[in-house]
Amino acid sequence: MRALVTGGAGFLGSHLCERLLAEGAEVICLDNFFSGRRSNIKHLMSHPNFEVIRHDIVQPIWLEVDRIFHLACPASPVHYQFNPVKTVKTNVMGTINMLGLAKRVKARILLTSTSEVYGDPKEHPQKESYWGNVNPVGVRSCYDEGKRVAECLMMDYHRQNKVEVRIARVFNTYGPRMLADDGRVVSNFCVAALRGEDIEIYGDGNQTRSFAYVSDIIDGLMKLMNVEDFCGPVNLGSPEEFTIKELADLVIELANSSSKVVFRPPRPDDPHRRRPDISLAKEILNWSPTTPLREGLKRTLEHFRRELGLQSA
Ligand code: NAD
Ligand code: UDP
Repeated sequence: MRALVTGGAGFLGSHLCERLLAEGAEVICLDNFFSGRRSNIKHLMSHPNFEVIRHDIVQPIWLEVDRIFHLACPASPVHYQFNPVKTVKTNVMGTINMLGLAKRVKARILLTSTSEVYGDPKEHPQKESYWGNVNPVGVRSCYDEGKRVAECLMMDYHRQNKVEVRIARVFNTYGPRMLADDGRVVSNFCVAALRGEDIEIYGDGNQTRSFAYVSDIIDGLMKLMNVEDFCGPVNLGSPEEFTIKELADLVIELANSSSKVVFRPPRPDDPHRRRPDISLAKEILNWSPTTPLREGLKRTLEHFRRELGLQSA
């Protein structure tokens, strides 16, 4: 089996490349290195079944593959808002290019969509049948509307061209290989706690998120790619919900940190609540996450200690 992983040098992509190689696949990692890093895949470079292509998916590419894991797209709000027009191009033109490739070579393609398609949800927890509450003209829309178009393209290529598609709606995921300056909440809090700097909460800290550990999400992506005859969206995330203030307190405790929590103005269009209903993933994939937040955060703190050149706990 030859698998293409777009965004393969990123946080999730590099873990996925590793898993695919361990399971005996040939892997082509394609990345433009916007938010990915060579160091994420350095340890895979000498593997005989691993290949890297520096390429921007906004441009078409001709390859021969059996499976396409389509992850390429910046995921941190700081990264995707840096060049929002490019984010839209990546989601729309990039996804069309990958679907065109899937159609030509008859490959099955999986898109990592996002919980952001639910926007600031009015239904809680979020089921796949919920259509979402998204601001089409806000600063997050390049990403959330971009992913909504990407999902639409997946379904239209399926209906029109019989492409075999899989859509994962991934909720907040954390773990080793997140960038220290990535801007997402887990990396920001871990780095600040380890440096003894203030932990900045945007808003009152009562907004919630559900955090899944990276290896659990990779299990879910592998299972979803391999499931037969199911092409609709499937939520992949942790069903345990935490406020951002609870997350800050837990990181401070686990890092044994002297950091203080400070409150900053809320980010525009910041969703208030987010928790997946994962009944569908349980039913069709026999999947649910197994890593408790406390355990996953300990491993993530260890990763950031190494990144920051600090002594191990
Ligand atoms: P990431 O930023 O670490 O990885 C994205 C990768 O895509 C990077 O290596 C980047 O260089 C590459 N990329 C971006 N634009 C590209 C382009 N035009 N051409 C080629 N490569 C390009 O982010 P991540 O957390 O690993 O997210 C991976 C995927 O999972 C994304 O599609 C994201 O939307 C989705 N997702 C992630 C989360 C999460 O919490 N990590 C949650 C929901 C969805
Ligand atoms: N957040 C925060 N401090 C930070 C980074 C993020 O309080 O340093 C908050 C942010 O406002 C949001 C939540 O944490 O309510 C999750 O933010 P993240 O950027 O990780 O992901 P997303 O908003 O896309 O779920």
